[in-house]
Amino acid sequence: MKVLITGGAGFVGSHLAEKYLERGDDVYIIDDLSTGTLENIKHLQEDENHRNKLFVTIDSILNHDIMLELVGTCDVILHMAAAVGVQYILDNPLLSIVTNIKGTEVVLELCNKFRKKVLIASTSEVYGKHTHAPLVETDNIIYGPSTKFRWSYAAAKLMDEFTALAYHRTKKLSVVIIRLFNTIGPRQTGRYGMVIPRFVQQALRNEAITVYGDGTQTRTFTYVGDVVGAITKLIECSDAIGDVTNIGGAEEITIGNLAERVKEITNSTSEIKFISYDEAYTKDFEDMQRRVPSIEKIEKLINWKPTTNLDDILNKVIDYCRVNE
Ligand code: UDP
Repeated sequence: MKVLITGGAGFVGSHLAEKYLERGDDVYIIDDLSTGTLENIKHLQEDENHRNKLFVTIDSILNHDIMLELVGTCDVILHMAAAVGVQYILDNPLLSIVTNIKGTEVVLELCNKFRKKVLIASTSEVYGKHTHAPLVETDNIIYGPSTKFRWSYAAAKLMDEFTALAYHRTKKLSVVIIRLFNTIGPRQTGRYGMVIPRFVQQALRNEAITVYGDGTQTRTFTYVGDVVGAITKLIECSDAIGDVTNIGGAEEITIGNLAERVKEITNSTSEIKFISYDEAYTKDFEDMQRRVPSIEKIEKLINWKPTTNLDDILNKVIDYCRVNE
């Protein structure tokens, strides 16, 4: 099978590429290296078993001619390319909206033209600022005002979901939509705001571990290897077509406790420092206080549950950071 992974040099995309190459598939990647890096796929390009089956294009998904060729060539399209990371979105508001809305439009239009099956990676941000748990795919959504730019990411991704569902309803296009909940693991960078690589790097350097807000906000983190396993199964699942499915972990933790856990596992002497949101981001920032997925649907669809617990994930990230930072 020929698989096109948009954003294949990104964090999740590069793990997906590895998984498909290991299965013996041909993998086509398009990435503009805005947040992805060639480092993420260097080991695949250098691997004798993989290099003849890996085709990398460094370009934007907004380049219609290149995308036309790639979508035409491949059997399945996994659309992972997106502007991601709270910090990145706040720093690049316009670029993020254009990439996330127009990029997905290009992907869907071409998948429809060639009648190719497509998976659209959406995000738990789409739920907005709920505090109840767990978040079910059919829940209502609550956003802040349009002056608070964090919500532009949620709204753009929601629009991607609508567009994909509309292609399914009106054109019978095979689309699978996933909402990813705080996926973590080796190769994720802290540069765009993601908390775990940031905490681990701070702890390894014995610098202050920076908890934003009062640290009572919670997340559930999912190991990228578990996520990639879920994606490869979901794209093959006919009942997932034309629908939205959560992919997330089960272990809820406060960010304050996460800081302590990282400090303990790394044997760090770092202090844990609380920083106000105003100082950390911008004045009009809003956080999500709680984010826990319902994974009932995915369990039913593909009998999937995350199998890697938080301590194991942290150890994998710590090992990676010790070698690579
Ligand atoms: N966070 C933090 N310190 C950091 C980076 C993030 O306390 O150095 C917090 C952030 O405010 C949020 C949580 O950790 O409450 C998760 O942040 P991340 O950007 O990783 O993901 P998201 O907010 O999209 O869930």
